[in-house]
Amino acid sequence: RMQRIIDIDVDNRIAVVEPGVLNGDLQAALAPRRMFWAPDPTSAALCTIGGNIACNAGGPRAVKYGATRDNVLALRAVSGAGASLRCGSATTKGATGYDLTHLLIGSEGTLAIVTEATLKLTPLAGDKRTLRATYRDVAAAARAVARIMAQPVAPCALEFLDDESLRLARAHGGEAIPVAGAMLLLEVDGETDSIDAAMQAVAQAAQGEGLIDLDLAATGAQVEALWAARRALSPALRTISPHKINEDVVVPVSRLPALVAATRELAQRHRLPIVCFGHAGNGNLHVNLLPRDDAERERAVAALDGLFAAVIELGGTLSGEHGIGLAKRDFMPRAIDAATLDLMRAIKAQFDPAGILNPGKLLPAA
Ligand SMILES: Cc1cc2nc3c(=O)[nH]c(=O)nc-3n(C[C@H](O)[C@H](O)[C@H](O)COP(=O)(O)OP(=O)(O)OC[C@H]3O[C@@H](n4cnc5c(N)ncnc54)[C@H](O)[C@@H]3O)c2cc1C
Repeated sequence: RMQRIIDIDVDNRIAVVEPGVLNGDLQAALAPRRMFWAPDPTSAALCTIGGNIACNAGGPRAVKYGATRDNVLALRAVSGAGASLRCGSATTKGATGYDLTHLLIGSEGTLAIVTEATLKLTPLAGDKRTLRATYRDVAAAARAVARIMAQPVAPCALEFLDDESLRLARAHGGEAIPVAGAMLLLEVDGETDSIDAAMQAVAQAAQGEGLIDLDLAATGAQVEALWAARRALSPALRTISPHKINEDVVVPVSRLPALVAATRELAQRHRLPIVCFGHAGNGNLHVNLLPRDDAERERAVAALDGLFAAVIELGGTLSGEHGIGLAKRDFMPRAIDAATLDLMRAIKAQFDPAGILNPGKLLPAA
């Protein structure tokens, strides 16, 4: 089932894998070589490199190291027409024709089946610091995100949790999670002789109006407790609503305070629980609409419409990492103009003339 790691080439910082390899298994194979592959979706233990490529997956580390599209050099694939193709090269530079590698990444399996990937690896940093910053309210935390991203030291994780996420995380065994209006989970990596200066720069930017506390996780166990609570959030939402609608909208980082304010306003206007957390350093927020009964499910439809309208108005887009699939397909014309959508349909027809690959996904009917 295409689960082989074909090659790990540390000198050239590449790995060649089949698409069925689990993300977590690849990271485990790379760690003893002091390397990693940057995409680290929270589902790493379960998801495949092929799925990561199809969805252009990212994770907490994307804020410093990029998402899947930034970390794949070459692909082998079979188009819907049955053509076997190779694109890209095992080099970190390349200017040879159209960039089909980056076209296939994020195409959600609608153009070709990926059969082999040449991945760009990154050396593991020698050291890491993890900080927990709590704020009086979500607006103060969102403003801190913009300040942190405006200074030169890029954190390797900058996660945002709103007050409801914190309550939920505590209820599901997250003793490391404080009571607060919002929290940022910050990580800085680098070499041991410079890491403390880097941490100080990020910590200084995290300080400002509305900060309650800024703590350094002192032990490995404390770091793991914070991340375990963050990972538990997504499944925990189902205890509030089995019909949760999990959006992963994205806006320019400086607009994050306005996006958070818009979700608050939508929750009030539509009388609906909305819980927000996510990869704030990329402006990527998981906005979870949690209808508990039929009336709320109906109101959630209007709230969703309002959310996408707000995101587009703020210069953002529909999905930061989960993709479009069927659920968001009909919103595509809000984000992509008609002429561009037509070009996308023409590309789809060229790769997959009979429409056999993930039919109906991603592109709305003309
Ligand atoms: C609990 C949880 C947490 C998550 N956290 C994150 C996160 O932090 N960041 C993030 O980006 N995503 C996250 N996700 C969603 C994420 O995109 C997926 O987990 C992952 O990237 C998809 O991989 P998969 O193997 O599960 O793919 P699947 O769900 O099996 O497939 C996804 C799509 O990829 C296509 N596909 C699969 N293999 C190939 C191939 N070889 N060639 C062409 N198309 C292919 C499929 O047809 C399908 O359309 C999360 C999901 C869950 C359930």
